[in-house]
Amino acid sequence: RPRVLSGIQPTADSFHLGNYLGAVRNWVGLQDSHEAFYMVVDMHAITVDYDPEVLRQRIRRSAAQLFAVGLEPSRSTVFVQSQVHEHAELAWILGALTGFGEASRMTQFKDKSAKHGTQAASVGLFTYPILQAADILLYTPPLGGKDFQVPVGEDQRQHLELTRTLAGRFNHRFGPTFVEPDAHILKSTAKIQDLQEPERKMSKSSSSPQGIIDILDEPGPLKKKIMRAVTDAETEIRYDPETKPGVSNLLTIMSALGGEPIEGLEGHFAGAGYGQLKKELAELALETFGPIRERTLELLADPAELDRMLAKGAERASEVAAGTMDTVRERVGYLRRG
Ligand code: ATP
Ligand code: MG
Repeated sequence: RPRVLSGIQPTADSFHLGNYLGAVRNWVGLQDSHEAFYMVVDMHAITVDYDPEVLRQRIRRSAAQLFAVGLEPSRSTVFVQSQVHEHAELAWILGALTGFGEASRMTQFKDKSAKHGTQAASVGLFTYPILQAADILLYTPPLGGKDFQVPVGEDQRQHLELTRTLAGRFNHRFGPTFVEPDAHILKSTAKIQDLQEPERKMSKSSSSPQGIIDILDEPGPLKKKIMRAVTDAETEIRYDPETKPGVSNLLTIMSALGGEPIEGLEGHFAGAGYGQLKKELAELALETFGPIRERTLELLADPAELDRMLAKGAERASEVAAGTMDTVRERVGYLRRG
């Protein structure tokens, strides 16, 4: 089976709708056709301000949500990044192969450091894409053209490109070692926008509470946020992201959640007002996320069991990662411990 791999940061108490539609929901569908590795990337989460106790809770919450949306330990390897030491080790080696100028072109760093200025940003935030390349390449399938998919949202395209570049550079310099991964980006849901600022992506760390739909939101607040989503001064329900970003975002979300194509929804809502669209969307969101929320809370009620599930995942991931690192250490010229 070809391999698939992806990760999500424990930077909030809940995943949001963008994480769900752009990434996590697709992970579920790939777990039978692929040998799947999915991780909570806590090492990335410490590159911005955080509180250690809150982080620990969020790691568990993230893992619980992954299991609640339908990842199963018997079908996928679900684990926590920091429990597999090879991630840090390979990141160091790839860092030595990355140009400073090359790393400086990463737009996510520019976006994320804009608020406080680049001088205040951590070096870890700067080298984040290199660690991400390591996260992926550790799980390279054996060479021989096997396909290697990384399902992510549009915002990760540039990082995936860097990962491919670094894989190719390593192979060229030290001999064939890594398969270059393909970004698996679903066009229709690759970028879910903020409800209050529909020209910006919905984001765990930068959306306002009103702009973000969390999959663990209680029904009341969830409905309220959708009803208050920013639209426009017209009345027509029509898909046009340029001039109607708010309404188009709501249509995208509704189509992705309910499976009805956007043109069908335009027909369905012909003559109706924005309030009707929002009301039906809120109902659909509640239907989708209610069971996920319940299952997440059940899993969180037994943290010891959750930790055991993650330990099993880390064990399996470590086997693969350690195998890759044996080869890498040899190739780069390290001396084997005698
Ligand atoms: P942060 O703000 O902390 O970076 P995030 O909301 O960007 O959080 P990540 O954990 O960085 O979430 O990303 C997890 C996955 O969700 C990635 O594959 C990313 O591409 C995807 N993703 C994030 N935001 C969106 C969005 N608005 N629409 C679609 N996919 C998204
Ligand atoms: Mg992000």
